[in-house]
Amino acid sequence: MATTDAAVATGTAAFDLTGRTALVTGSSQGIGRTLAQGLAEAGATVIVHGRDAAKAAATADGIATGVGRDVRSAVFDVTDPSAVDAGIQALEDEHGALDILVNNAGIQRRAPITEFRDEDWTDLVSTNLSSVFYVSRRVARGMVARGSGKLIQIGSVQSQLARPGIAPYSATKGAIAMLTKGLCADLAPHGIQANAIAPGYFDTELTQALVADERFSEWVRGRTPAGRWGRTRDLVGALVFLASPASDFVNGQTLYVDGGMTAVV
Ligand code: NDP
Repeated sequence: MATTDAAVATGTAAFDLTGRTALVTGSSQGIGRTLAQGLAEAGATVIVHGRDAAKAAATADGIATGVGRDVRSAVFDVTDPSAVDAGIQALEDEHGALDILVNNAGIQRRAPITEFRDEDWTDLVSTNLSSVFYVSRRVARGMVARGSGKLIQIGSVQSQLARPGIAPYSATKGAIAMLTKGLCADLAPHGIQANAIAPGYFDTELTQALVADERFSEWVRGRTPAGRWGRTRDLVGALVFLASPASDFVNGQTLYVDGGMTAVV
């Protein structure tokens, strides 16, 4: 059926997530925590997620207190396909098929390529890339049956820019951009949009050592046209856009939220 202009929401209604259920993987801290809070503020029923049950529950409680609504939590290891299937099944039993999935859980490992250890490579690929395949595959089944859904991956500027010591991390993030296009190819006919957000350098638990390194911190400020590190709230507008009806004709894209870093040399 052709979409009429009347069916396309405009104004703030286009960004309203009331009635939608959203899972944000790895949202017990850092970027994910702010993304979960942003979705809750936009009206969604949010599920905070991590591996540490007490930490995820505490984060959910903190967000719930701020927004004045219930926020749930879920615990499973995104690198374990059986745990993913069981975890999503439990959520669907309670909430029905999810409306929004944010594939945010991720790790970093650093070493020169000649010193890079097999176990660090394996951890990076399983946590940053295989997890997106496992969780998206399972969540998309419910979305396909319903005929709508939003899949949003958290990539990185490292999908486009290389730096010494993080070649395997960059490879996982480059793959995320391409996996996002593939999800679009398979799922767009089912009314599902798959997009990615690629953050620049953000001050979170993951990057504490870099933030504390004054020489590196200065390099980030100089290399970023905005002249500063990202704050996690800088990502919320892009996320709410990609999670909402406002982006229903945006599919397979990576949106760089990096203060201009990838736009300039
Ligand atoms: P943090 O280290 O602060 O948080 C990582 C989150 O992922 C935690 O909630 C952690 O939960 C969860 N997690 C990690 N491994 C697993 C696993 N196997 N199963 C389930 N949950 C897991 O990271 P950031 O917030 O900084 O990063 C979030 C995302 O943003 C990552 O994908 C990262 O690559 C990306 N990013 C970050 C940038 C930055 O500058 N910080 C820049 C660009 C991209 P728990 O502790 O319970 O395991």
